Amino acid sequence: MITRTFVLAGIVAAVVAASPAFAQGKLNVVTSTEDLASIAREVGGDKISVTALARGFQDPHFVEPKPSFILAVNRADLYIAVGRELEIGWLPPLLTSSRNAKIQPGARGYLDASLNVRILEIPTGQITRAMGDVHPLGNPHYWLEPGNGRLIAQAIRNKLTELAPADKAYFAQRYDDFDKRLAAAEMRWDGIMAPFKGTKVVTYHRSWPNFMARFGLEVVGYVEPKPGIPPSPSHTLDLVEEMKRSNIKMIVVEPYFSLKTPQAIAAQVPGAKVLILAPSVGGVKEVTDYIQLFDYNVNLLSGALKQIAGK
Ligand SMILES: [Zn+2]
Repeated sequence: MITRTFVLAGIVAAVVAASPAFAQGKLNVVTSTEDLASIAREVGGDKISVTALARGFQDPHFVEPKPSFILAVNRADLYIAVGRELEIGWLPPLLTSSRNAKIQPGARGYLDASLNVRILEIPTGQITRAMGDVHPLGNPHYWLEPGNGRLIAQAIRNKLTELAPADKAYFAQRYDDFDKRLAAAEMRWDGIMAPFKGTKVVTYHRSWPNFMARFGLEVVGYVEPKPGIPPSPSHTLDLVEEMKRSNIKMIVVEPYFSLKTPQAIAAQVPGAKVLILAPSVGGVKEVTDYIQLFDYNVNLLSGALKQIAGK
């Protein structure tokens, strides 16, 4: 880690010296994920330029930092993080070596998007990583609930207004427009998902508690024994038994995990189906913004559940 930070810092020094002021007149916003970038674009419009670091088809817990990341962060006026330690493995060294005081945690140009949203699975006992749990501060996949998307947009509106007060009315109007379109979309999604309330599903990683709870579905098991821990034969066996016992036929998988274990499980549970949903904007090609993310997942999931039910 030390070596990598040192190398990245060297690259910054070399390139920053050679680069002219970037995107003049616009706030330079860098986000950890494409979801946050999409919501920032909704609110910031053409007053900001936005760069997302992690791609939507990557596991956001484990992102390989690239030299381009550090250049982007070096030039940022605002950094928006998912928080809850989602990026603990890659973001802190990146921020440090960016040599940008404006966007360090605690500075005005750093926004932790998790601070005013609904967080599930907050641990009650002693917090420990000893078991490999990558969710020590509650579930960090909270953006997969449209209500949280709205709260993230509010936090971004407030932060952009703080950084560029002259554009307050512009950001307010953009937020209101996003809020309206999101509310209309939520009615659509609720209608599509209504017949499947109470359905029990299994997911690979704990990416979906907010999403499933929002639409009344219940996640009753995980292919991973713990968040961040790969499948094990004994856990897989237990899961197969549980799925048979509880008549669960849906296994949702994120695009960055191997299908081997989910397919082996599905093969042992009569009628079970493996479905790859997009946990982020950019998770699949056709999902290019936050509202499309839910359109895609709601349509795919409802279609698959309909098939399973034989409707
Ligand atoms: Zn996770």
